[in-house]
Amino acid sequence: MVRTRAPRRQEARRQQAQAVAQALAQHYPVAECALRHENPFQLLAATILSAQCTDERVNLVTPELFRQFPTPQALAAASQEEVERLVQSTGFFRAKAKNLRGMAQALVDHHQGELPRTVDELTKLPGVGRKTANVLLGTAFGMATGVVVDTHVRRITRLLGLTRNTDPVKIERDLVALLPPEEWINFSHRLIHHGRRVCIARRPRCADCPLLTLCDRFGLKPLPGPLPSSGRAPTDQPSSDHAGAKSPRKPIVRRSAVAPKRPKPKRQTPKRSGE
Ligand code: SF4
Repeated sequence: MVRTRAPRRQEARRQQAQAVAQALAQHYPVAECALRHENPFQLLAATILSAQCTDERVNLVTPELFRQFPTPQALAAASQEEVERLVQSTGFFRAKAKNLRGMAQALVDHHQGELPRTVDELTKLPGVGRKTANVLLGTAFGMATGVVVDTHVRRITRLLGLTRNTDPVKIERDLVALLPPEEWINFSHRLIHHGRRVCIARRPRCADCPLLTLCDRFGLKPLPGPLPSSGRAPTDQPSSDHAGAKSPRKPIVRRSAVAPKRPKPKRQTPKRSGE
């Protein structure tokens, strides 16, 4: 039997998710994909290269790759060695080169060199999973087919308390249920920016975070000091959702509020007679 969250709790989460989306929109008004590209084909190639690699590194590699192989036809005709040499610094370069050439060949063979516009067709291309398909359709064609769940989105949505899942497919399902489709594309882009600038893995800058009052900080130690007022509905507090896990909402006890320990009275040694 599939367990679902109680409707009241789900509604509170929905309000929380939409408040997060609004706060992100205020702080990151320009929501853009960080991978540089000039057309959908380039975006697809760059996204394939971005697996297990930073966007900055991919952006260093792609100008020369696209200069030498600007079209699916050109990339399909490239040798494995040529492509490997160009993408070597992005890691897993043999598999990535193979996927790039296979993707280009499939576009030429089955799609007249154009990119298909459905998740089903895209995920049949070599090296293209659901995340890549969502990135491409959302960014290149403005089609909201889902929420892109990369490593930042996965980590931060758990910290926020918007999901308990760790599997990207299940996280996407949770987010799709919480956010309206018009938020799906930008929510991911903005959360990725946020993960690079503020909610940094292993050292999130919570004190400077515009989402602090909306965030469960699930699994993190309490901050030293009172939280600003959240304005969230009382039903929005985590409870049984995270049963068994370390509670992120332990009462915050300020050091100054703790009474100092009294020094132990020194043992009085009896005075000797005559002293
Ligand atoms: S409050 Fe902290 S944990 Fe929550 S999103 Fe901001 S930086 Fe991340």
